[in-house]
Amino acid sequence: MLFKPRTDEMLYVLTQVVHAERRLQELPAHAEVDAELMAQLMDEAGKFVASVIAPLNRIGDETGARWSDGAVTMPPGFRDAYQAFWQAGWPALAAAPEDGGQGLPAVLEAMLFEMLSAANHAWTMAPDLLHGAYDCLKAHGTQELKDRYLDKLASGEWLPTMCLTEPHAGSDLGLVSTRAVAQTDGSYRISGSKIFISSGEHDLSDNIVHLVLARLPDAPPGPKGLSLFLVPKFLPDGARSAVHCERIEEKMGLHGSATCVMRFEAATGWLIGESGRGLNAMFVMMNSARLHVALQGIGLLEAAWQKADEYSRERRQMRAPGRKAAQARSNAAVASAADLIGEHPAMRRILDSQRAWIDAGRVIAYRTALELDIAKQHPSSERREAAQRWCSLSTPILKAIFTQQAFYGGSECLQVFGGHGYVRESGIEQHVRDARVTMIYEGSNEIQAIDLLLRKVLPDGAFAFNGWLAELGAELDPAVPAQARLLSRLTSLREHTQRLLQAAAQDDTLAYWLAEDFLHAVGLTLVDWAWTQIERSSEAAEPRWRAPAQAVQRWIMPELDMRLAIIDAAVAPS
Ligand SMILES: Cc1cc2nc3c(=O)[nH]c(=O)nc-3n(C[C@H](O)[C@H](O)[C@H](O)COP(=O)(O)OP(=O)(O)OC[C@H]3O[C@@H](n4cnc5c(N)ncnc54)[C@H](O)[C@@H]3O)c2cc1C
Repeated sequence: MLFKPRTDEMLYVLTQVVHAERRLQELPAHAEVDAELMAQLMDEAGKFVASVIAPLNRIGDETGARWSDGAVTMPPGFRDAYQAFWQAGWPALAAAPEDGGQGLPAVLEAMLFEMLSAANHAWTMAPDLLHGAYDCLKAHGTQELKDRYLDKLASGEWLPTMCLTEPHAGSDLGLVSTRAVAQTDGSYRISGSKIFISSGEHDLSDNIVHLVLARLPDAPPGPKGLSLFLVPKFLPDGARSAVHCERIEEKMGLHGSATCVMRFEAATGWLIGESGRGLNAMFVMMNSARLHVALQGIGLLEAAWQKADEYSRERRQMRAPGRKAAQARSNAAVASAADLIGEHPAMRRILDSQRAWIDAGRVIAYRTALELDIAKQHPSSERREAAQRWCSLSTPILKAIFTQQAFYGGSECLQVFGGHGYVRESGIEQHVRDARVTMIYEGSNEIQAIDLLLRKVLPDGAFAFNGWLAELGAELDPAVPAQARLLSRLTSLREHTQRLLQAAAQDDTLAYWLAEDFLHAVGLTLVDWAWTQIERSSEAAEPRWRAPAQAVQRWIMPELDMRLAIIDAAVAPS
């Protein structure tokens, strides 16, 4: 069964739940983007993804990327699909018109990448860095660099990489030791080794633009000494630069993506942004990359759920409890009067719960993508600041909870197949293998939890965080029971944060022990908020939305109490 984007469901969330049209109308650049245009674009995107990208998922996994003598050959069909993708203008969707882009809102690009990741995570790894590299160069590049590279990244004609990780420098980028030496002509020579570089070498595009973190000779140790450089595979005069792919990794999944060990041998590059401010420039890229990794999680879970849902409507085993024998018999054309797998409560619970996670993920991710546009373009500085706060707080949560759910929820979907899920034929085991890495890269989920609690909540005494919680509760009506319940959860979260703040002031390590519980507590509250938004929308009473809405409260939200109880126990004086 091939993945097929369900664009009607995605569009329902976009237009009826997060009210994209109304929010975009506040932005002069997007005031014309109406529901009809969004639907047309997403339908076209859905057709492309279903017909060109999804059919390559299996062959990508089975054939994998191949290394030979420094060159990487991508799986059959990958290059043609990529060429068709960029020539059709898809990477340029959200790039600015002056750079050759279509100037559309980031949320449409987000939805496109959710579909692509669901259809073929490995293929999507290469173009998924385009928007981040484009933003980074646009914000920090010199005019000369922009003239040479910006339109190529905007169009997707050339693909970028993000070269951060080194053998001894993973989560701790302050340990990066790749060197850069200035030349008299204004360029630099970059030397060092990078590992785990996604799409470091491939045959998808005719040039590759590496963004490389390195250290100048007089730089101080640690993260403040890092600078960012652009190193192309082919130099402007057409010569091959001194960047080599030494090998590619054998991995648990994602076989169709080349994960490369790269050697820079005095390779020519140019500085992006100020020297010593490389991490700052890179963060432009990493924040949007993190939202896109969350979308990978949501997409992968959707792909696994689609398979499990279809299987649960075909496979029959035993009688489901509570069903009358006569009804069961009339359902069964086969000799046995067994019921469908999807009618058994244990399986129904899995399917409804994963459905609920996917829908919540879309609400939070699409809203965050809209806030990204608002943060850049809203005429009111107050509104821009609120949007910035939204993105800064929601991004680590989205990244961590939806990548975790892609793996664990995907594994639950595999369970629906029984043994048929463990064998390759069903294709669902690939989703589980592919999804695992999303919890690790782009800042591991532990790093996201630390980012949220120790960098964004504690330093200002939870001032911004409490402001955000107030925003989440602003439109709720205490007279509606579900909304009153959410209001009380928001209050409880605020109180727990306050207690954690006080306890952390007495104990330097406490916040590190509790960061993951805190992130999940906030994430679960956000899931409840997302479902409250769905329940306020026009079709909420229809059966499609009722079952997952029930699953949220019965099977998902009890974890919130557990996370808060862990925080309580740890902050209580012993
Ligand atoms: C398939 C794949 C693709 C990748 N693509 C890229 C790419 O394109 N570009 C790139 O630069 N890198 C890439 N990476 C590297 C990835 O970003 C790193 O693997 C990741 O940052 C973690 O670093 P590490 O593997 O060295 O683990 P380590 O940093 O050694 O961490 C090991 C474990 O300790 C935990 N840990 C580390 N520090 C802390 C801390 N302070 N507090 C709590 N826990 C901590 C981590 O969460 C992790 O669970 C890729 C990796 C993979 C597997």
